Amino acid sequence: MKQLLTKYILLFFFASFSLYSQSAQTQQLISAMIGESPLEEDLQELCDVIGGRATGSKGNLESVEWGLKKFHDAGISAQKEAFGMPRVWLEKKTEATVSGDANFQIRIVAMPFSIGSKNGNFIGQLISGGKGTDEELKKINSKMKDKFLVIDSDELKDIDGLFVDYANSAKIEKYSISSGVKGILYVGSRPTMTMFRHNASQGDENKTPLFSVAREHGARIIRLLKLGKNLSVNIKSEIEDGGEYKSFNVVGEIKGRTKPDEIVLIGAHLDSWDLGQGANDNGCNIAMMIDMARQIKKLGLKPERTIRFVLWNGEEQGMIGSWRYTNTHLNEMANHVMVGSIDIGSGRINGFFVNGRQDVMNELEKSLKPVSGFGPFNNLEEPVVGTDNYDFMLHGVPNIVGNHEPQFYGPTYHAESDTYDKVDLRQLRINGAVTAAVVWYFANENVKLPRQSRAEVQKVIENTSLRSQMDMFNLYPAWENGSRGIK
Ligand SMILES: [Zn+2]
Repeated sequence: MKQLLTKYILLFFFASFSLYSQSAQTQQLISAMIGESPLEEDLQELCDVIGGRATGSKGNLESVEWGLKKFHDAGISAQKEAFGMPRVWLEKKTEATVSGDANFQIRIVAMPFSIGSKNGNFIGQLISGGKGTDEELKKINSKMKDKFLVIDSDELKDIDGLFVDYANSAKIEKYSISSGVKGILYVGSRPTMTMFRHNASQGDENKTPLFSVAREHGARIIRLLKLGKNLSVNIKSEIEDGGEYKSFNVVGEIKGRTKPDEIVLIGAHLDSWDLGQGANDNGCNIAMMIDMARQIKKLGLKPERTIRFVLWNGEEQGMIGSWRYTNTHLNEMANHVMVGSIDIGSGRINGFFVNGRQDVMNELEKSLKPVSGFGPFNNLEEPVVGTDNYDFMLHGVPNIVGNHEPQFYGPTYHAESDTYDKVDLRQLRINGAVTAAVVWYFANENVKLPRQSRAEVQKVIENTSLRSQMDMFNLYPAWENGSRGIK
């Protein structure tokens, strides 16, 4: 009896000691993440010195070497992992003039994967498609052949507006391209002549000239067309457009102490579109990943599971880097305990998307307890498409995406104005602390959520908005034919 009691007392002692030490470590990590570190300097180097980092560009390659060096300088083991990108696409220069009943130059940029005007300029009559509703397009269906369709837009305020944009353009492109338009000019959704670039619905399979026109110039075109004026556009668009090439993810790692084969992965994407500096999207969270690895190493903390810090590449061009990772690490997919993605700027993290999984939600809520002072957190079961959790979700791996208060994210999204000065540096540190607490929980607690089967993933696709989001980006065929996701 006495022996037994001693045994229980000892057991209790060890159990509570390990609990204590776990939470003490979490507290240490949280304090370190909001304390002094070169986070700002790192971010400024990435944004101001390197600048825009479209995958395939010189800036992007520089950023890969930069990320690798940052991990190495912090004493983190890290490597570049090569993968194939399907199509080189870089805009050199696009210029355009409007002529006819009025003559003026317009500020214009090519949408990603728009074809270049190699042999002579693109010339065509302009026709207004209103805001591109089904009714508006039907009305001009017989008249749009060989013309440049002009689509008006609402001013973009936040991320919801962005998803409306994406959903509309998918429908507009499908309808008008099959009706024989020569090309499409979207009126820019950002005020004061701010240019931006984001993916067209066909991604790298696009073969149509697609442009974004400065909002004020686009509005002038729309007003003139409403007056019944006759206008044509002449566009010279120099694009570096080519075949497959090699790009790199940067993978840093802290090996697990007792479960080195089990992996908790946290990532952000290194690439950006090239008009701005990719500061809120997504340089700030790259700097956060590097800082988290640095702080864990500096504190000498040893996680039970392996933590991988991944700087993804090719995200803006179709989440290619993370897709390729799920192929090259296919044998390890079942060992990925949790995959996190932070990609919505530097506004306050107000919760996480758990991507259709209640079991993930339950554990996540526990992981957020040590940082409840930075809350409240409202986690969302709804799946989200558009960042590097996507292929893990299709592989049935538990995955989360940070959700943020909008801050500047909407108006500066993929725009010239996404620059270093727009990042909320104080909040970025707090977001780092929140993310680190979640990572530390999954890297240490005795929880391993099941991997979903293909049938279970299919259920999430059918029972949530996942299917319609996949359609927005033309992603469903790749899941259906088995080239993306679990077999
Ligand atoms: Zn992003």
